[in-house]
Order: sequence, then C-alpha cells, then structure tokens
Amino acid sequence: MGIQSLKKHFETNDKKRLWHPFTQMRDWAKENPLIITEGRGSFLKDITGRWYLDGVSSIWVNIHGHRKKEIDEAIKGQVDRISHSTLLGLTHPPVIELSERLVEITPPGLTRVFYSDSGSTAVEIALKMAFQYWQHKGAGEKTQFLCLNNAYHGDTLGAVSVGGIDTFHNAFAPLLFRSFKAPSPYCYRCELRKKYPSCKLLCLTKMENLMKRYHKKIAGLILEPIVQGAGGMLTAPAGYLKGARRLCRKYNILMIADEVATGFGRTGKMFACEHEKVSPDLLCLAKGITGGYLPLAATIATEKIYKAFLGEFKDLKTFFHGHTYTGNQLASAAAIASLKLFKKERTISKMRKKTELLKKKLLRIADLPHVGEVRQRGFMIGIELVKNKKTKQPYPMKQKIAGKVCGRAGEKGLIIRPLGNVVVLMPPLSISHQELKRLIQITEESIREITEQSSDCA
Ligand SMILES: *Cc1c(COP(=O)(O)O)cnc(C)c1O
Repeated sequence: MGIQSLKKHFETNDKKRLWHPFTQMRDWAKENPLIITEGRGSFLKDITGRWYLDGVSSIWVNIHGHRKKEIDEAIKGQVDRISHSTLLGLTHPPVIELSERLVEITPPGLTRVFYSDSGSTAVEIALKMAFQYWQHKGAGEKTQFLCLNNAYHGDTLGAVSVGGIDTFHNAFAPLLFRSFKAPSPYCYRCELRKKYPSCKLLCLTKMENLMKRYHKKIAGLILEPIVQGAGGMLTAPAGYLKGARRLCRKYNILMIADEVATGFGRTGKMFACEHEKVSPDLLCLAKGITGGYLPLAATIATEKIYKAFLGEFKDLKTFFHGHTYTGNQLASAAAIASLKLFKKERTISKMRKKTELLKKKLLRIADLPHVGEVRQRGFMIGIELVKNKKTKQPYPMKQKIAGKVCGRAGEKGLIIRPLGNVVVLMPPLSISHQELKRLIQITEESIREITEQSSDCA
C-alpha cells in the first residue's frame, strides 16, 4: 500500500471505530487528523513523513523529549525482567526505589506514596484519604471539600465534584457531591472586580470567610498550586498559595495540592509548591511523572495522615482503595529513569535561560491587538485572545478563535491546543533555544493571521 492509501485506510477506520476524548465527533468526521507514527526529541512525525514541533508536550506530559535513550532503555530492561505484578500482597524493587526518590524530592513532610494510574485517580484517592482521615480522627462531620472556581482536577465523578469549569462539568451536576467554591485567583478577570496588589488578596479573604463559617464540615481544600491549568493557565498572584496554606492550618482543614500539571519542573521548580515554600498534607502527581511515557500517578501523604489509618483489621481503618495496575513496574522504571535525568542533565536549572528567552519573545505576542493577556510560569504559558483589547471583551465561544489559531499553527508545523479562548504553549523541558524560537514565531504568525482575518469579516 502506498502512503496515501495507507493514510486513507487509517483515517477511515479511526472515524469508523474511535471515540476521541473531549471531542465533538461530528466535527472530527469532517477533519483530516494527523496520524502520528514516530517521535524524536521535541518533534512528532506523521504518517506522511512530515515533522511537527510538539508545543504542548503531548498534553503536558513529555519532559525530556520523545525517544529519550535512558528512558527507552529503562523500559526495555524492565520488560526483560517483568512488566507487571501486583502490589496486593506483593511488592517489587522499581516501585520501592521510586517511592524513596519521590519522598526525597517532594516538599518536606510528605512521606507515604500511594500509586494509581491517572491524575483523576490521584485526586480521587486524595479526597477519599482526607475524608476518611477525619472519620478516624473523630471528626466525622468533616465530609465536604472546598475548591476553587475554574479548577480542574480530572474527569471522574469525585474529581468533577471539586472542579469549577462549567463547560465540562455542568452536564453531570446531578451526579456530583456538593463542594464549597472559593474565587479563582484569576487577576485578569477578577471575580471580585479588584486589582492586584491593592486588592490585598481579597480572594483569600473570601476563602477565609467560607472556612470560618463551615470549617466543621470541611475535610480539605483542593487546589492547583500557582497555575490553574485547564481553567486557562491562570497564574495566581504572589502570596496566594502561602496564604491558602496558612488558612488551612488555622481552620484545621487538610490541604490537597494537585500538582498533576505543575509537577516535575513545569513551572521552573520541581514542584510549584516550592515557589512559596508550601508543604501540603496531600500531594497529587501524574502527567509528567514518567517523563511522558506511561500512565502512572501518585498521591503522597504525610506521616500524620498515614498513621491515622493504622489499627487492628477489625477496626476497619484500612484504606479500601486500589487500582489493578497500581505501581506497575514498567511505569515505575520509566519514572525512575526520568528522575535520574533531571539530575544528570540539570533539567531544571537549564530551564532558567529558556524561560527568560520565552519571556522576552512573549512580549511581542502580548503586544498583538487581539491578545488580552499572556500568562507564564516557567514552561506553562496561556495566551488569552480577546475581541477587544481595551474592554477585554471575549471572542464568542462559537467562533473557536484559539482553535483556529492552533489549526493554522498545525499547517506551519507546530502542534498546540486551545483551552477556550486561550492558546496554550507547554513545550517539553528539554526543548532547545532554537526550537523555542520556532515555537514562538509560528504561534505569533498564526495569532496574527487568524485574528486579522476574523476582524476583517467581523
Ligand atoms: C490533567 C489533570 C488532571 C487529570 O489527569 P488525568 O491523567 O487526565 O486523569 C488532574 N488535575 C490536573 C491539575 C490536571 O491538569
């Protein structure tokens, strides 16, 4: 079969048999999706042989690039020993070594690692642990959660119950448990119509008001430290995270940090909590944990929480939760290899210059007439497009403006994805200076071309 007919074959069968995530499949049927067959470094190759820059790290997971020798070899080496056994009644070296390493690099006080396989499950586990912790502590009325508007913690029902993105979450409302919602630290469109810093973090005061009133019912606060990712790369102002930590202590509420997106260097520190020297009570990790190779997640608890679950079996203090592939060997081997690379290649300190370069280049994008705000923390970037820069009037959702920008970028050899009216850039941490320049250049051209076009016909 020639390449063109092979491509046609896969397209037809994809459209006949697949149901893609977060995708209106009627639209999908009209598109010609890229069929990825290979990757190398910061690039992906499609079936026709064309290479594309992976501008979103294959949805926020890739760290050291594709086909990284050390990770490839770690997985192959593990395959030659064993690919999977269980953590029910058994254990194995890779998961033990990984746990040791995770405790070493995560914020102080976190000592016990519970494994699962996605960000959503890491969050479910944290919620259930927090809930049951209070049951064991004789505070059985602490059964609810406090979360933030614009939050995203995954797509399972518990995670959706503490989510705050109406477009994704409203449809499932009757299935969800109720949560308290505090304002999102989204300064560009402040819910409280204030300006930082003269607001003195009024959003935290609002959070405190909820805690003051309901702390007897609240088991935990869950938030995405420093950057609310899927909400549109919303960057919290300085002091917000530390302030939230302080409030949790004051009102005896557990703090759950969801670092599924921000973890493993993405914000310029290994974990976003480090920016404000915060240690949560529970930490959720996934996405980048294996360098973007295999599904793996971890929920890390403090010794205090762990100890509350100890007792005689008949006391039923056991944490009755587990997923079949919990702590899988191949995924653990990939994660260990990725963590070794962070050390060997000084991945995070090498980001510093690249982050500066990005910052400088993004200034030009911020100046474009239809760019409302550019938000950046390390390698997490959101470019919010607006119909009117002065009034911040958004583009109507149905115009899919950011989606069109990403489509144009694709034609130019860059893969990026929109979130509402926000164009997201999240390159692999290993990206070169040259590749970063290309990433920004294509993004700028695409924004320019699409927004100029759409204002012509408006
Ligand atoms: C992606 C994400 C999740 C969900 O992770 P999945 O692996 O897709 O289930 C949870 N929290 C945050 C902050 C995320 O970005």
